Amino acid sequence: MNVNQSAPPVPPFGQPQPVYLGHHQSSYGGQPGSTTAPTSYGAYNGPVPGYQQTPPPGVSRAPPSSGAPPASTAQGPCGQTAYGQFGQGDVQNGPSSTVQMQRLPGYQPFGSAILAPVVSQPAVLQPYGPPPTSAQVTAQLAGMQISGTVAPASPPSGLGYGPPTSLASASGSFPNSGLYGSYPQGQAPPLGQAQGHPGTQPPQRPVPLQASSFTPPASGGPRMPSMTGPLLPGQSFGGPPVSQPNHVSSPAPQALPPGTQMTGPPGPPLPPMHSSQQPGYQLQQNGSFGPTRGPQSNYGSPYPGAAAFGSQPGPPQPLPAKRLDPDAIPSPIQVIEDDRNNRGSEPFVTGVRGQVPPLVTTNFLVKDQGNASPRYIRCTSYNIPCTSDMAKQAQVPLAAVIKPLARLPPEEASPYVVDHGESGPLRCNRCKAYMCPFMQFVEGGRRFQCCFCSCINDVPPQYFQHLDHTGKRVDAYDRPELSLGSYEFLATVDYCKNNKFPSPPAFIFMIDVSYNAIRSGLVRLLCEELKSLLDFLPREGGAEESAIRVGFVTYNKVLHFYNVKSSLAQPQMMVVSDVGDMFVPLLDGFLVNINESQAVITSLLDQIPEMFADTRETETVFAPVIQAGMEALKAAECAGKLFLFHTSLPIAEAPGKLKNRDDRKLINTDKEKTLFQPQTGAYQTLAKECVAQGCCVDLFLFPNQYVDVATLSVVPQLTGGSVYKYACFQVENDQERFLSDLRRDVQKVVGFDAVMRVRTSTGIRAVDFFGAFYMNNTTDVELAGLDGDKTVTVEFKHDDRLNEENGALLQCALLYTSCAGQRRLRIHNLALNCCTQLADLYRNCETDTLINYMAKFAYRGVLSSPVKTVRDTLITQCAQILACYRKNCASPSSAGQLILPECMKLLPVYLNCVLKSDVLQPGAEVTTDDRAYVRQLVTSMDVAETNVFFYPRLLPLTKSPIENTTEPPAVRASEERLSNGDIYLLENGLNLFLWVGASVQQGVVQSLFGVSSFSQITSGLSVLPVLDNLLSKKVQGLIDSLRAQRSRYMKLIVVKQEDKLETLFKHFLVEDKSLSGGASYVDFLCHMHKEIRQLLS
Ligand SMILES: [Zn+2]
Repeated sequence: MNVNQSAPPVPPFGQPQPVYLGHHQSSYGGQPGSTTAPTSYGAYNGPVPGYQQTPPPGVSRAPPSSGAPPASTAQGPCGQTAYGQFGQGDVQNGPSSTVQMQRLPGYQPFGSAILAPVVSQPAVLQPYGPPPTSAQVTAQLAGMQISGTVAPASPPSGLGYGPPTSLASASGSFPNSGLYGSYPQGQAPPLGQAQGHPGTQPPQRPVPLQASSFTPPASGGPRMPSMTGPLLPGQSFGGPPVSQPNHVSSPAPQALPPGTQMTGPPGPPLPPMHSSQQPGYQLQQNGSFGPTRGPQSNYGSPYPGAAAFGSQPGPPQPLPAKRLDPDAIPSPIQVIEDDRNNRGSEPFVTGVRGQVPPLVTTNFLVKDQGNASPRYIRCTSYNIPCTSDMAKQAQVPLAAVIKPLARLPPEEASPYVVDHGESGPLRCNRCKAYMCPFMQFVEGGRRFQCCFCSCINDVPPQYFQHLDHTGKRVDAYDRPELSLGSYEFLATVDYCKNNKFPSPPAFIFMIDVSYNAIRSGLVRLLCEELKSLLDFLPREGGAEESAIRVGFVTYNKVLHFYNVKSSLAQPQMMVVSDVGDMFVPLLDGFLVNINESQAVITSLLDQIPEMFADTRETETVFAPVIQAGMEALKAAECAGKLFLFHTSLPIAEAPGKLKNRDDRKLINTDKEKTLFQPQTGAYQTLAKECVAQGCCVDLFLFPNQYVDVATLSVVPQLTGGSVYKYACFQVENDQERFLSDLRRDVQKVVGFDAVMRVRTSTGIRAVDFFGAFYMNNTTDVELAGLDGDKTVTVEFKHDDRLNEENGALLQCALLYTSCAGQRRLRIHNLALNCCTQLADLYRNCETDTLINYMAKFAYRGVLSSPVKTVRDTLITQCAQILACYRKNCASPSSAGQLILPECMKLLPVYLNCVLKSDVLQPGAEVTTDDRAYVRQLVTSMDVAETNVFFYPRLLPLTKSPIENTTEPPAVRASEERLSNGDIYLLENGLNLFLWVGASVQQGVVQSLFGVSSFSQITSGLSVLPVLDNLLSKKVQGLIDSLRAQRSRYMKLIVVKQEDKLETLFKHFLVEDKSLSGGASYVDFLCHMHKEIRQLLS
């Protein structure tokens, strides 16, 4: 039907809006060697079904209605909080613009005060590199009274460590493992079952709760007196580590009041282990790699009452009773700053096996010399135990976080594309691994031995090349696959479905036009935006126009398909009301080239908001919409992506119909897991069909109330798609955020119809996978779509003995269809070291990656186990990791000392952040949908994203001189670090707050907000006024720069000190005790120490 007879005014279609500039595609695919798709795409000629359900002319407002919408349904619990505006972040691949942090004046670096001296251990041998100092952080925690305000007899309630009697109630396996990752049952790591799987062991025994901060059980077990009482004879916790051979001298024990005994810090300046080293703390972040950390100049900064641990070992001094000083425990800010200073200036060259890369928070360039860049693969450890016994002992998970299509900064080249012509990529005949720099050529180059399975293969004549005197092919450096860690192969037709080169993918926009969507202004906003956004569909490097075809569907209880064929004067609508048996009513004219059909599409997008302007329809369907999009792609024989814009719980009668089953009473019960599980299996079945078709689903949700994110996100999750959620969407408040996300999402490069396989050398194998994908067997990760933001986390286990000489190899191969329809293979190779000494493992770990893995492991665990069990499992695993280090790697010292491996000194603080996150310990303001949403977001986050998500960045804005335009140094995420005379920005990749202290100078208030006093600042403001002064410009610039670093737009929320909204803000001060019962960092560290001591005793 001609939906509208009068030709609508044509807007200036095709005019790029200035705002797009920032979103513009980088030149993906423009790498040398890239060619155009070797296929012609047959014009789609599907038969038009006989039935063209063309409604009678004259009906210009089509959608059926079913009664007046109850106004109340549109309200919902909106406005209750600003919470829930999550958006994913990504800092890793941005341009290198971050400025190195500078220490705040007066900032006390870690180690400067009472605790946490660093102990050097000469017993630990360094197998390579410049001999580093294996430093340990030691802190005497036991027996300390953590907080002076907490009376021992009346411990605070609500902490996360409940009655010990329930600790051991681990409840078996993950029955639901089919959903997120679909492993055979035997492979799913059961929580609470010891399978040799890190983290799967239930708490060994009830943990006696001792320190005042760790809540005693409800049953009221008595606290152990020794923890608060005076030190008993022979009970010295952490006497001076005189046994540590590395110390020139140790301060004598300090006189402490009862109950607060601490040893003197064992860490006067280290004597130089090597004469070339300067005295002072030779901390090395990553074991034996990287430049040696320089002496910390203000190490000896004064701390009241503390001995000055400067370059001169001070005499023993009496120390007044003091709560554990937060400055004395390992600081994330300090670790990040040190790594930036030490490793940010030199490129990271990947030629050496087993090198630990700089931290994700450090800006650095990568030079590929044979191993994949850390932008593609990061590992929990770069030196893995030779035997499974060692691995079980250490409990350090062996995992790689892989981001196969990661975007690179402009300075780094995209992977070269290798074209071997009709013969295709060269592979091992036995294990099918692809040619890579680790393959060993033998017999004068006529054969090669596979580095993964040792099979000897013939070299095909056309690939033959002579070897040099070292056995290396003389053309090694001319061939990416022989010299680089990452590269691509053009795939032959053998790698294509049905032995046919693929058609270019299609995008289908599927828009909810029910009452809520119309009323909020969403439909009009979206249609207006699409008119110009469609000009920016992803295109392959150099191509003039995108090969992607587009199609449009609107829906409420029924679906409306549109014929936008270029030959039509007006778009035609076809209604399908039989949602129980979805089919696509038109083939010709549904998926079109955007340029050819521009006028018709523009006309359609103009008409849609008008057509449904008076709709009364409130009910929606959901599964049939996905079904329709998938069927359309199937009919067109192409892969593609559905963009769904959806507002409500799909309660209309149709497949996939849902009911409201939200029940907060389930929290902290054994049934809590059901809140994370889908309420019907229908979506998994549908997702499976989507994956088979290469149909990726991106879901934009605009809920006013519960929509069951846990169920609605199943298809996006299993098809490699993304979910965005805009609670209580209002155009005026949320359009910037929605449009930014939409632009980025539509323009981002996607690999379609992908399969990923991780091969390993003999001795280890991939056993478990985390991320947004589907698995039909135990090895192939199927991704209907994969974009540059998504990661797949892979866990490895031993199946044989490894050896130090050969190390261990990983090869990740991703077969995918590019946005131009080209079939390609992207290969990433990584070689790791293997060790027979546990100390080597601990020295080459990366805590950020460990946390990424542990969070994903825990977030999957909540699908099948009580949340408390999941938390306990994490704590136990962390304690086991640290206890094993203490037992096997640390030099003998008093049991009262907490000794942390240098590379893992932030493990406790970061783990605590995971434990108190909304998924594992929700506060009252966190909705069930928020938790399900965050759970699925974290599942595909990269290491940089989880790092900032769990430990937010807090930046003081008014402490540094106003002329200083560089990013200010962060401070620790604790209320103690906030000064009421300053203004701070806090971001975690999803949320962005501007906190204003109550005593901020009037001039600052005027400059930033354009009002004359603190009281006139509007709390909850989301846009700062643009004012013509230095401070205003600086803050706006910083906000823009933070947003540019993240993959999702962060909406700003202004929070005034002492204001109601401050509760929300404080939720992100993760070093503090949380309202939902999460422990403070200090308390958690004490608790962890106790756990470790129990394991050791
Ligand atoms: Zn092989």
